Amino acid sequence: MAEQEIFTQLATYDHEQIVFCNDNATGLKAIIAIHNTVLGPGLGGTRVWNYATEAEAINDVMRLSRGMTYKAAISGLNLGGAKAVIIGDATKIKTEALMRKFGRFVENLNGKYITAEDVNTTTKDMEYVNMETSHVVGLPESMGGGGDPSPVTAYGVYMGMKASAKQVFGNDSLAGKKVAVQGVGKVGGHLLDFLHKEGAELFISDINADTLAHYASRVGAKVVNGEEIYGLDVDVFAPCALGAILNDEHIAQLKCSIVAGAANNQLADETIHGPALMNKGIVYAPDFLINAGGLINVYQEHIGYNRETAQRKAEHIYDVTLEILKISASEKIYTQKAAMNLAEKRIQDISKVKSTY
Ligand code: NAD
Repeated sequence: MAEQEIFTQLATYDHEQIVFCNDNATGLKAIIAIHNTVLGPGLGGTRVWNYATEAEAINDVMRLSRGMTYKAAISGLNLGGAKAVIIGDATKIKTEALMRKFGRFVENLNGKYITAEDVNTTTKDMEYVNMETSHVVGLPESMGGGGDPSPVTAYGVYMGMKASAKQVFGNDSLAGKKVAVQGVGKVGGHLLDFLHKEGAELFISDINADTLAHYASRVGAKVVNGEEIYGLDVDVFAPCALGAILNDEHIAQLKCSIVAGAANNQLADETIHGPALMNKGIVYAPDFLINAGGLINVYQEHIGYNRETAQRKAEHIYDVTLEILKISASEKIYTQKAAMNLAEKRIQDISKVKSTY
């Protein structure tokens, strides 16, 4: 890719810095993208992916790092947005040496970038990274880290769902409400427990039959087959598996009043499908806001871990969701846009605070 094209990409969404890391000895080829550090150091996980082209890897890391800026800003955290990708097949390239070498590149950024787990990286990988740098979060509890963030993520999603219910039904009780959860993995599973405790009627789908059987018996959820989940006559649809599922085809099938789930990047195209949901009268709780519990959890690790504090901070997702839904209704803009505007406003306001010593 020509130099000009990379700088054009950096300028498009105002990225601050992009770092290419190469090491022949370990085979490391990594890209660290730092989108915005007005609010604090850029935090975002490291993804290992076998990208077909380098351009694809650059595009992904730029898009994901920008998403982290919005997530941190809307959650009221003093964090910026960044992300890293390591290019290659995770089953073949990951070694202690490669992860430690990557850790040294992170260390060289002197804390401007803080890394964490992401797709195809594990807590064990972060332990290797941590041997070379302290700028890493998502460490196991035995090492002073926060451990699995999924319970906090699920709690934030639950808060976002309740706030959406308040906006749509006039009160935030989910007792007796029908909720369909797509994907009952780490987050979806904890979410089911919260919903069951409150007395919601539950429907679940997953590609893993064992998980489905487990939750069907644990919380009395009704199992539905794959695609059927979109057209169910329910109050709430909670996507907790895949991104980009809110597309033309699926939105046409939806009968729910609320979409509120954990999956990242649920809108296939935010400028088309954000308005499409609004026009159909469906309230969409922005994913990057209500699934921020995981980020809140690792931020807590950065400043001194305490699970209760992380959970309490995730509770704040309720108030922010309600504020965004109100702005969306009064200004007639789709909820994702309202959330992005609020995040951008916080960054602008705080940049002015920092304009004096
Ligand atoms: P997970 O892998 O534990 O769970 C995902 C579940 O979805 C699995 O049970 C899987 O079998 C199921 N699934 C996969 N394809 C499916 C399909 N086509 N239909 C139905 N089910 C399918 O992952 P997780 O940690 O629970 O995360 C769920 C989503 O939330 C992901 O999109 C993730 O990026 C996002 N998220 C997670 C966290 C977190 O703290 N774990 C934080 C923010 C966002």
